Amino acid sequence: MFYDTHTHLNADDFKENYDEIIKEANSLNVKYLNIVGFDKNTNFLANQIAKKYENIFASAGLHPTDVNNFDETDLREVENYLKQDITVAVGECGLDYYWHKETRERQIEFFKKQIDLSKKYNKPLIIHVRDAMQDAYDVLYEASKDHKLKGVMHCYSGSSEMANRFVNLGLYISLGGPVTFKNAKEPKEVAKIVPLDRLLIETDCPFLAPHPYRGKQNKPVYVTLVAEEIAALRGLTIEEVGNVTTNNAKRLFNIK
Ligand SMILES: [Zn+2]
Repeated sequence: MFYDTHTHLNADDFKENYDEIIKEANSLNVKYLNIVGFDKNTNFLANQIAKKYENIFASAGLHPTDVNNFDETDLREVENYLKQDITVAVGECGLDYYWHKETRERQIEFFKKQIDLSKKYNKPLIIHVRDAMQDAYDVLYEASKDHKLKGVMHCYSGSSEMANRFVNLGLYISLGGPVTFKNAKEPKEVAKIVPLDRLLIETDCPFLAPHPYRGKQNKPVYVTLVAEEIAALRGLTIEEVGNVTTNNAKRLFNIK
């Protein structure tokens, strides 16, 4: 059994066919999915789609690349989604200096506010970090001082050393398509060293399709290819990786 913890079936790419994509995933044992919001529209769609299916859950959050378009009203909307059981996480939120270094201050401000929501509603964070590992760590470390953090470093792209530091803050590490890329040294290293009870898998579809579909449209069934690669790296079976990461995700997202 597999749990794709990070999909964007709420993206325009899947507007016409998310129903088929979900059926296909279920038929190939990808039984659980999160649909991750990143702005007003996708938070709404994640909520709407998740409500229609069993074992599909939503998150609501404000993505760092878009912070100049967000205000307090958007945060209040995220908060309203968090009051619903179908919403299992806050995010994606975080820091992204690859696309927008110039909005650094505001990104940090919105990240902190979403961490506060995670604490208030006791729902885990789905954290996006690109080219901002140290700042993200500093913000999370500060936030962990008075409160045990819950969350996942989604599509984690940092070093194995940093991965251990995030694990020590109480966070999970999620790996996606890049771990299957031939020249992906760091993600493969991370896949080997993360404690097995802190590992999650994801696709981040429609982006980042795993090998041999790299560059094509990604979809939840391909999470099995991520599991297959991790299984090979750790000397486990694909079923073992599927089961352990599913149980981890159910624990983190509080799913019975
Ligand atoms: Zn995403």
